[in-house]
Amino acid sequence: MKKVLIIGAGLAGCYLASLLQDTCHVTMITKGTQADSNSMLAQGGIAASLDPGDSPAEHAADTLAAGQYHNRQTAVNQLVTTGPKLIQRLITHGMAFDHQANGQLDFGLEGAHSHHRILHANGDRTGAALTKFVQSHLNHVHWQPHTTALELQRQNGICTGVIVRNQRTHQIEILSGEAIVLATGGLGNLFPLTTNDATITGDGIAMAARIGAAISDMAFVQFHPTLLSLHGRCYGLITEAIRGSGAILVDENDHRIMADVLQKDLAPRDVVARHLKAWQQRGHQLFLDISAIPNFTQRFPGVTENLDRHHVPFRSTHRIPIQPGAHFVMGGVTTDLSAQTSIPHLFAIGEVACNGVHGANRLASNSLLDCLVSAKKAADKIQALQPTEIGKAAVAAKPAITPHLPELADLQAHAWRYLGVVRTPAGLKAFLDWLSPFNYRQLSPRQLTADQLTIANLCLCASLIAKAAFAEPKSLGAHYLEETVPSR
Ligand SMILES: Cc1cc2nc3c(=O)[nH]c(=O)nc-3n(C[C@H](O)[C@H](O)[C@H](O)COP(=O)(O)OP(=O)(O)OC[C@H]3O[C@@H](n4cnc5c(N)ncnc54)[C@H](O)[C@@H]3O)c2cc1C
Repeated sequence: MKKVLIIGAGLAGCYLASLLQDTCHVTMITKGTQADSNSMLAQGGIAASLDPGDSPAEHAADTLAAGQYHNRQTAVNQLVTTGPKLIQRLITHGMAFDHQANGQLDFGLEGAHSHHRILHANGDRTGAALTKFVQSHLNHVHWQPHTTALELQRQNGICTGVIVRNQRTHQIEILSGEAIVLATGGLGNLFPLTTNDATITGDGIAMAARIGAAISDMAFVQFHPTLLSLHGRCYGLITEAIRGSGAILVDENDHRIMADVLQKDLAPRDVVARHLKAWQQRGHQLFLDISAIPNFTQRFPGVTENLDRHHVPFRSTHRIPIQPGAHFVMGGVTTDLSAQTSIPHLFAIGEVACNGVHGANRLASNSLLDCLVSAKKAADKIQALQPTEIGKAAVAAKPAITPHLPELADLQAHAWRYLGVVRTPAGLKAFLDWLSPFNYRQLSPRQLTADQLTIANLCLCASLIAKAAFAEPKSLGAHYLEETVPSR
């Protein structure tokens, strides 16, 4: 049996495991447990043109428009045509998406979609419902939880395995396989304000970059307009589906912030995030006014639970305090339409990958769909791989280098200031100058503590973002370049 190593237990990794478990020996390596991933946090839903009045062509048109036509058209076509079939298959196997009272699937609407096409499950807990459903079908998979992938192994030009560390025993191990799959998600924790799970620290992109894999589109980071914000900190996402249901963005004077913008509160995320940041910089507070939504607590039980946990009096005020924060990275490890990276036998699926489907800005609810589609394409390709002889490599000794790294909070503050919602050429240069004295590129991951590794990986991702943004001298999609240096 072919040995397949999947790094990451989100929707992409788990769905791939479900497709390969009967024909391959699958090992799932994950930093935390099955419960730790962005997939488990996804709220709004998964986009698919399954409504009779909708079509893949319309879904493709919306995806391309949101991505500013920077998308790879073939990847978009693959997403919108393969995606609905995979969702139908999940429904046939018992995945329970929400239905209307008349028994029809209940399609929600989100920003920049021209049609109600967002399937959701358990209200606003779609990601958890879907990921747990897929995980419940994993019967023949070898799990290695609490295990961090540190470095990819490359021999004779092909990827042969990964060095991992058990976080409990601190033991280092080399795992070998015929296919090594990065499913490690994005890099939200580069920023101090983020919707992302704590385990999402750009590891897959950094590991791939270190062994010379092609990386692309790193300039494009999506900032979500509405994170629950209390005392300058963020406490999770307030799903866009709430604006799709009629909520509006207001300030402390009930001024409607998006009133003069085309598509108003459902404009693309980068447009909304920039308007909110500009309004905030003029000294205003930001709120989501939910007074137009009947049965809010029943329709959005996950958000309600989070608001109650943080004692937000939304039932009486009908307002939720919000601000923008880092959400999703469109760039990542370059792959073809089969999730193959530039290094043979190394695959990348889900958010860590850049197959070109999202272009310069992801259309809402397209990423869970891409997790399914990229995993399916990887499964087909891995099954067709010719078996290869893989010898177990030894961990080559490396000279010890004393790490010189920034503090995480300092890195995040600099990233927010210079790589955030609004960037400037001078700011990008200032960021790269600030980063240059640190030796994150020379360090050997296995010689670092877990905290040092996180910082080194985030520094590497930050440098890739800054350099890519510098090389993209105009505003495109989520990347907004302004001429003046942003004020603190
Ligand atoms: C709050 C929130 C809401 C969202 N809502 C939606 C939505 O409604 N619809 C939509 O389409 N998208 C949504 N998204 C985006 C979507 O959830 C993600 O893009 C998608 O789930 C990514 O899935 P993934 O499997 O690629 O990665 P993830 O689900 O992020 O999983 C990555 C896995 O890799 C593990 N890992 C990371 N590094 C290592 C390492 N070094 N070693 C071992 N394991 C590692 C992590 O612990 C995790 O298990 C949302 C995201 C967030 C954060």
